[in-house]
Amino acid sequence: MSKIEETVIIVGAGLAGICASYYLLKNNIPHLILEKSSQIGGIWSSMCWPGIRCDTEIINYSYSFRPLASQQSLVSGKTISNYLKATSEDLGIIDKIRFDTEVIEARFCSAEKKWSIKTNGGYFKSQFIINANGYFRAKPYIPEFSGVDRFQGQVSHLFELSADPDLRGKSIVLIGSGASAISAAPALVKAGASLSLLQRSPSYIYEDSNRIGIFVNIAQKLLRVGFSFPIASVNFFLQLKSDLVFVLFRKAPWIGKIFFRHHWKTTVDSETYAEHFCPAYNPWEQRIPVATGLKRLIREKKIKLVTGRIDSFDESGIVLTDGRHISSDLCVLATGFNLNFFKFDIFVDNELVDSRGINFYKGMMMGGIPNYFQPFGPPHTSFTRRVETISKHIVKIMSYMHRHELDTVSIDRKKIAQVPRITPNYIMRNLEALPAIYGSLELPSIDNLCYYHFRPADYLFSGDAGTKTKTPAVRGYRASPSENRG
Ligand SMILES: Cc1cc2nc3c(=O)[nH]c(=O)nc-3n(C[C@H](O)[C@H](O)[C@H](O)COP(=O)(O)OP(=O)(O)OC[C@H]3O[C@@H](n4cnc5c(N)ncnc54)[C@H](O)[C@@H]3O)c2cc1C
Repeated sequence: MSKIEETVIIVGAGLAGICASYYLLKNNIPHLILEKSSQIGGIWSSMCWPGIRCDTEIINYSYSFRPLASQQSLVSGKTISNYLKATSEDLGIIDKIRFDTEVIEARFCSAEKKWSIKTNGGYFKSQFIINANGYFRAKPYIPEFSGVDRFQGQVSHLFELSADPDLRGKSIVLIGSGASAISAAPALVKAGASLSLLQRSPSYIYEDSNRIGIFVNIAQKLLRVGFSFPIASVNFFLQLKSDLVFVLFRKAPWIGKIFFRHHWKTTVDSETYAEHFCPAYNPWEQRIPVATGLKRLIREKKIKLVTGRIDSFDESGIVLTDGRHISSDLCVLATGFNLNFFKFDIFVDNELVDSRGINFYKGMMMGGIPNYFQPFGPPHTSFTRRVETISKHIVKIMSYMHRHELDTVSIDRKKIAQVPRITPNYIMRNLEALPAIYGSLELPSIDNLCYYHFRPADYLFSGDAGTKTKTPAVRGYRASPSENRG
């Protein structure tokens, strides 16, 4: 069967894939994007449940090469999906995308120094792969609930709801306390439901006014008349603020605790605060969901907060371990995700690469996989800020290799201690399966200045016609047959 050959194959046309394509295009590096769905935008196009939106200010989440100006600081998933589509169309990225093309297997041949990529639509070959296949498993995490089959109402996962469901007159229990539950709750009330928000244990929640600040507003106005520097500066300061708050709350949790107590003071009394908003963990040990309109709905008693463990379901609702009962017609699960970094099988010659615990250098390259990049953002802040830096870094590596006629770049596989930056349930229950990140501080405002300068000595190159040839260490690991897809 004939193969299409390109210098680079990007897997996935989500935020990371489009970003990588932009920088490759800008540097005339030939490439194709293989996308398994028929649309651009990744999770922002595939998920459309009520209230889905970004928790990061959009000016900081959109690409620096095409900032998205908005009067709202947090925008909907639909807005981001439209933005990614428009970006791809306006910048010619769309012509690089092969839709409905799912990568099933990628195999690096050490003799040929090339990747062979098997898809549902034929074979491709490339020197490099940029894997932007996302990191959430397609199926959400659903805990087992005893007695759920006795429940006479309906149980749906949040992701199964349409964007605009008619929930008039319905009494809903929304189970979860993460970002998805907190952004969905006001949307479910808007759709007509009376809502109980059931969380297993208290959580820190930050309420945002959803209005842009004065400096963002001025920078956006200046951008419209052609000045891009103010937006770049604002973005730097937003990033710095986000990183500083993260470090401050982690290093001095008492400051974070005082902050959150003060933040909810005018909405709830101290007893309610202690019951629902005062977790056993410290601020920023888990991602802090950002609410918009939640305070008002709690004050108006349109959302009832319930904190307690589910014992079982009965015919009319949920029984908690302390004996309380919550009646409902519809139980909506916002119980989180499972993670999966490889959505297809990756081989180096005949060895299947195991992503469990693999060393993940700078959120960009994985140990022992030559000519392979996987852009990944830090967990506490804008994914885009690091993914853009990584895309530029990849271009530097490729350009260096081109200039020096090098065939492969890699880093050795080695054992790195798994120290998760944050410890929410979805990370802790997947911990063994996750790559171990190292090589940066995971603080983009500092990393982007200090940790992503290209230094050839940081990598193993081979095929060097000159003096310094190194062979990548691609052996010494073996995986059991994977179940990557799905
Ligand atoms: C509800 C929600 C809210 C979030 N909020 C924020 C936020 O506020 N701030 C933030 O920074 N991040 C947030 N994130 C994280 C978000 O995932 C990233 O910001 C970013 O969108 C990830 O982009 P991606 O391109 O890496 O992955 P994805 O968006 O998952 O895209 C991956 C693409 O790869 C394709 N693909 C997968 N497997 C294959 C295959 N085998 N072959 C071909 N194509 C394939 C998929 O179809 C998809 O189009 C949020 C995520 C969710 C789910």
